[in-house]
Amino acid sequence: MRSDHTTPERLENELELDQTLRPSAFDEFIGQEKIVENLKIFIAAARQRNEALDHVLLTGPPGLGKTTLAYVIAHEMGTGIRITSGPVLDKPGDLAGILTNLEEGEVLFIDEIHRLNPVVEEYLYSAMEEYRLDIIIDSGPNARSIQISLPRFTLVGATTRAGLLTSPLRARFGVTNRLDYYPPGNLYQIIQRSAGILNVRLDADGAMEIARRARGTPRIANRLLKRCRDFAEADEKLKQYKGIITREVAEYSLKALEVDEHGLDEMDKRILRTIIEKYGGGPVGLNTLAVAVGEEPGTIEEVYEPYLIQEGFLLRTPRGREASPLVYKHFGITRKGPPGQETLF
Ligand code: ADP
Repeated sequence: MRSDHTTPERLENELELDQTLRPSAFDEFIGQEKIVENLKIFIAAARQRNEALDHVLLTGPPGLGKTTLAYVIAHEMGTGIRITSGPVLDKPGDLAGILTNLEEGEVLFIDEIHRLNPVVEEYLYSAMEEYRLDIIIDSGPNARSIQISLPRFTLVGATTRAGLLTSPLRARFGVTNRLDYYPPGNLYQIIQRSAGILNVRLDADGAMEIARRARGTPRIANRLLKRCRDFAEADEKLKQYKGIITREVAEYSLKALEVDEHGLDEMDKRILRTIIEKYGGGPVGLNTLAVAVGEEPGTIEEVYEPYLIQEGFLLRTPRGREASPLVYKHFGITRKGPPGQETLF
């Protein structure tokens, strides 16, 4: 059975949870201090000049708060926000429709901006730079271009795959921020905040246990919190805890959910196991590894690897990816070596 509890992507039924728990202002947004500090200054400056904020690019793995930050930016600018995504803007007309309906100063959020159709992307250039759209109407000898001027707006683009952005698009963002995984201390605060909103009862140790196993990702932390609450409230064996998520309740529930000590996802484990089992611990080239685990090389590089490297499981060497001794320990695997010299780290 595939366990979904630790996937950083939003699950189908989670839109509402994401929205309920989404901070709307900077003072509710936890962590990512450097990014927040800078954005506050740019926003204050833009407001003083009575201008729209420069276009902002947010990159980083899923579930770290890119969409949330777009909402916060709009809120702090005192403007509205329109939400769309790269794959939805299929034709230039779709983009024109959205842009011409924007109000002065509004935020347009384009999620998965790396997936924009190249033709649509071309139109976006002049919209971003000069706040106008050059639309070609008719074709052949009758073809002519008409210009539509647009209100000044702020584009907030988000992508999990910064490497796939074209350089002309990237160059048109005045501000670029890369969101990082959250340390457990931040996730602890996020969990406490969410528990308050959802009326979940938990103690400090319970919150910390979930925080440690949430793969550095707020979306996972919130999801695990909800699942632990289900166990706390409904599992007969936890009756004595009276519905409160304590460390024991969190440990029991996370074990039942098969969430491991580091909150590693299925794909994380598959990557690490493949390196050990098929390639003797590495080094193995990115492309070879990608084929072996059935995932795109770029997704491995930009979505999965950063966490595994940060946590010290994966080493990136000039000759390829290597599993660190920590992986052997984590999986309880004896490292292969000549008979008599196997090492268990
Ligand atoms: P992304 O767009 O990067 O995939 P989201 O912005 O949708 O991520 O965030 C997922 C959920 O995680 C949000 O609903 C929000 O509740 C929570 N979240 C993300 N970042 C933070 C944060 N810094 N503080 C509190 N909650 C956060």
